[in-house]
Amino acid sequence: MMEHHEAIVVGGGIAGLTAAAYLARAGLDVLLLEKNAQCGGLVTTFVKDGFRFEGGVRALESAGIILPMLKELGIHLETLPSPVSVGIEDRIIHVTSQENLKDYENLLKACYSESTEDIERVIALIKRIMKDMLVLYGVDNPLFNDFRNNTSYFIRVYMPWFFKFLVTLVRINGMKIPVEVSLDRIVKDRSLRDIISQHFFRSTPTFFAMSYFYLYTDYFYPKGGVGRLTEAVLDKLLEFGGQIKTGTEITGVDAAENRLVDKDGNLYEYEQLVWAADLKTLYRITNTEGLPPESAAKIAAQKETLLAGRGTDSIFTVYLGVAAPPETFKAISNGHFFYTPSRQGLGETHRSQLRQLLQHWSTVSKDEVFAWLDEFCRLNTYEISIPVLKEPGVAPEGKTGLIVSTLFEYDLVKKVSESGWYEEFRVEVENRMIDVLSASIYPLLKDRLIFKFSTTPLTIEKLVGSSEGAIVGWSFEDPIPVTSSMLGINNAVKTAIPQVMQAGQWSYSPNGVPTAILTGKLAADALIRKRKPRSRK
Ligand SMILES: Cc1cc2nc3c(=O)[nH]c(=O)nc-3n(C[C@H](O)[C@H](O)[C@H](O)COP(=O)(O)OP(=O)(O)OC[C@H]3O[C@@H](n4cnc5c(N)ncnc54)[C@H](O)[C@@H]3O)c2cc1C
Repeated sequence: MMEHHEAIVVGGGIAGLTAAAYLARAGLDVLLLEKNAQCGGLVTTFVKDGFRFEGGVRALESAGIILPMLKELGIHLETLPSPVSVGIEDRIIHVTSQENLKDYENLLKACYSESTEDIERVIALIKRIMKDMLVLYGVDNPLFNDFRNNTSYFIRVYMPWFFKFLVTLVRINGMKIPVEVSLDRIVKDRSLRDIISQHFFRSTPTFFAMSYFYLYTDYFYPKGGVGRLTEAVLDKLLEFGGQIKTGTEITGVDAAENRLVDKDGNLYEYEQLVWAADLKTLYRITNTEGLPPESAAKIAAQKETLLAGRGTDSIFTVYLGVAAPPETFKAISNGHFFYTPSRQGLGETHRSQLRQLLQHWSTVSKDEVFAWLDEFCRLNTYEISIPVLKEPGVAPEGKTGLIVSTLFEYDLVKKVSESGWYEEFRVEVENRMIDVLSASIYPLLKDRLIFKFSTTPLTIEKLVGSSEGAIVGWSFEDPIPVTSSMLGINNAVKTAIPQVMQAGQWSYSPNGVPTAILTGKLAADALIRKRKPRSRK
């Protein structure tokens, strides 16, 4: 038997859930299909032995999008602050407002006393970008505000804002060059450049990277964990009458027949489809037989472009249960902590040295890989999330759970896996990360460890079907095969395939939770317009 739905959404991450919720709210008959047993994608929370952890993103930035979306859908999500700390070696600063930029400046000056003027140039750049961010996020995203009910607000607030926004966009466009290149121009000291840029994905556009200090102050944490966000949108989708089928991996799209097939051979017919998952997969599994030749050729060309693209760097995460009370960790940092144990910086460790290893893999020994790994772990920057410092009571009494992660090269883990020593490698990375943190910021860590486990780029690839284990869509290094202009974001949801829209981390660059939501909403809006072409003014 074949199911038929007016709209089908593939992918139950935040993008797919958002699209489906808006479609259901508009009265469409919508079915969401998710390959895993649970929805959430890269926005999930889980509990292990009484310790609560995040499976993906550790805290959220509203970016003028998440909170307005929740409001518009009538979702009440209790939120907690998620203040950030930043540390280099034994110097740590706490960021609760933009005023703390001065502390960051002092931190850098204390570590790199020879580079005072260069640091002042960096801080001036961050300040300029912070002003732009205040404009960008200064009002709730217009997409989540129906002006027909509030014309005076439109005239008083949005019109003047829009002109400032256009000027800001022009400035942003001028700052698209990779952050490494921008820093090269204003900072002489290699270590200082590294310390700033190794937080980010390779070749992250300057504007996006250097807005980090502003973003630190925008983070919040949903009560109940980050996964509450996707759970709340899912509940709303069901309340609006939408349907969800989990454990359903789509393995084929018949573009001429508007039909999907799942891995068990079940068929689903759609009038409109939103694909909110990996885009390479969509084009790989789409059959164009029966389409007019022109349409098939367009799809083939788009497929070639997408398959030539790559995902961003992936991530290695180690989850730790520690027999030490939250106060021990609170005395060091806030619950969201960006920590670099050495001021030396990664240098070429994760660039040319890694490239060399990968290029000569067949002649490289395990010892050489582990020697490289030693350096990589010692010199890297870590994102440390401590859920119990964000929300008391989410770890057993007197104990603390830590999530420690660092950007990690997918190709390395892939090669290790193909060479048959994945488990050994994974444990070696875990141990080195724990050793480095025990020797620096958490001396008690090793002795008080109750358990550890980890996820790698391959875990992410398998979990959400993400090419190269990417966590925010396309890499910034190669030509980006999708829209990356803010003014063109409306077009980001279009595909070459008839009756198919795209949404989520692969549809627009740069991406993350807010943009995944934005594209989910845009895709839903486009479908709703198609359905009732004359019903909207
Ligand atoms: C550790 C980490 C930290 C992050 N930090 C931040 C941050 O600070 N700020 C930020 O904005 N973003 C951050 N992100 C990124 C953000 O979480 C993601 O970009 C966003 O959640 C992507 O949402 P999505 O719905 O587009 O994709 P996904 O969450 O990947 O959802 C896709 C869904 O589709 C399903 N699926 C895939 N293929 C199929 C198929 N064939 N059939 C059926 N279902 C399928 C998957 O199982 C998945 O549920 C972080 C991510 C991670 C992992």
